[in-house]
Amino acid sequence: MNMTLKTIIKQIPLGPFQVMTYLVACPHTREAVLIDPAGEENKILDLIQAQGLKVKYILNTHGHSDHVLGNAKLKEALNVPVCMHEADDRFFSDPAVREKSSKELGLPPPDPADIRLKDEDIIEVGTLNIKVIHTPGHTPGSVCYLIDGNLFCGDTLFVGAAGRTDLIGGSLETLLESLEKRLIVLPKETMVWPGHDYGDTPTSTIAREMEENLYITDFILI
Ligand SMILES: [Zn+2]
Ligand SMILES: [Zn+2]
Repeated sequence: MNMTLKTIIKQIPLGPFQVMTYLVACPHTREAVLIDPAGEENKILDLIQAQGLKVKYILNTHGHSDHVLGNAKLKEALNVPVCMHEADDRFFSDPAVREKSSKELGLPPPDPADIRLKDEDIIEVGTLNIKVIHTPGHTPGSVCYLIDGNLFCGDTLFVGAAGRTDLIGGSLETLLESLEKRLIVLPKETMVWPGHDYGDTPTSTIAREMEENLYITDFILI
């Protein structure tokens, strides 16, 4: 086995909210996960085919409707389970939350997940070990996925910013605690892959965010 091959990562901005959808694949087996399919399903399917990938799971970073928009169609087309943290799966199944969240985002909330994830779960895909890091704050069940030194952050951490906490279930205090206790403790060279392209570059590192991200420099490292 050639261990010098790098993890395959495709970053694709999709849908009405330009969510960053990711395909992450094992370079040895081409088995893959699809993170936050945000609509434009045919575009995603074409890319999977062009790259010769075998998608094993759909992983949601959280339950906001823009990040789960392609779940239903792609789950059927690819015949794979949808995975979400148990806290968001529970939260977004509450009828009152569903109604409020629909109004806030203008799109329907997610269907129930097939697999409920917990903090520190490891998902094996080819030679990749995908670690689930529970980072509540943007939503109660927001997670980041750590894959071979790459952190897929959803709306927890952006390049130079962090997720909003004014939507239902959000908490700035909890978000800051997640950033402090779970993310900035990661190796400095960890690559940051955000859920939206809100910064001056589409990717970053933990080191750069610790120097330039005001949520970290002004609220945590003071
Ligand atoms: Zn969100
Ligand atoms: Zn988002």
